[in-house]
Amino acid sequence: MRIGAHVDQTDPLAEAAARSAEAVQFFLADPQGWKAPKPREDADRLRAADVDLYVHAPYVINVATLNNRIRIPSRKLLLAHATAAGQLGARGLIVHGGHVNTGDDLAVGFDNWRKTFAFAADAGGFPLPVLIENTAGGDNACARRLDALARLWDALGDYEVGFCLDTCHAHAGGEELLDLVDRVKAITGRIDLVHANNSKGGFNSGQDRHDNLDGGTIDPELVVAVIRAAGAPVIVETPGGATGQSADIAFLRDQLGTGA
Ligand SMILES: [Zn+2]
Repeated sequence: MRIGAHVDQTDPLAEAAARSAEAVQFFLADPQGWKAPKPREDADRLRAADVDLYVHAPYVINVATLNNRIRIPSRKLLLAHATAAGQLGARGLIVHGGHVNTGDDLAVGFDNWRKTFAFAADAGGFPLPVLIENTAGGDNACARRLDALARLWDALGDYEVGFCLDTCHAHAGGEELLDLVDRVKAITGRIDLVHANNSKGGFNSGQDRHDNLDGGTIDPELVVAVIRAAGAPVIVETPGGATGQSADIAFLRDQLGTGA
């Protein structure tokens, strides 16, 4: 089981080494901005590395919204990041499930997701798996709770779609971690990646505030149980830089008996 961390995008391989990580996740541009990724000078090194790469799409992307001025650029930016991530040999592009605005019909949001995959298919398809991630907050989210996730997967039925399960988001979003993997897999059929994070916010608080595994409001053994059940690679998106994340990775390796 490959375990790694979300790291700064400047030199992801150095960050991986600093954490003894077998996988890294990073952004290819400002996560709060709309700029397309620039070619990277270390592209050859990244492609050849013995570290699994995951790319996280910018947070501003919301392909579900009924607001054209956000939805259309979101679609294009997602494809641009997928293209760039594919060129680096990344194993997946993680993108949040998104939401519609208050008063808007969530059914249209799910259909907007379908249109996003149709748009990409028209351009030749996403060059790597796109992993939709569950989110913590909001009343109109496409992937906060499993009832919405089931409707999203219904809408995307024609397409190959991956799933990234974030333990902080699930807990803060109001889904119990106990047996969560089975309930998710009953909908998605797969979990491609686990974001193993503790949560500063309480159960169903709607707060997206990550904490180190031995902190926060989640029993860390429940996070370990999720990872074990998912059988998927793991990325910690926890605070404390190399020190904090190394401790989280070491904790998981110890609990999972994966040594090193
Ligand atoms: Zn996450």
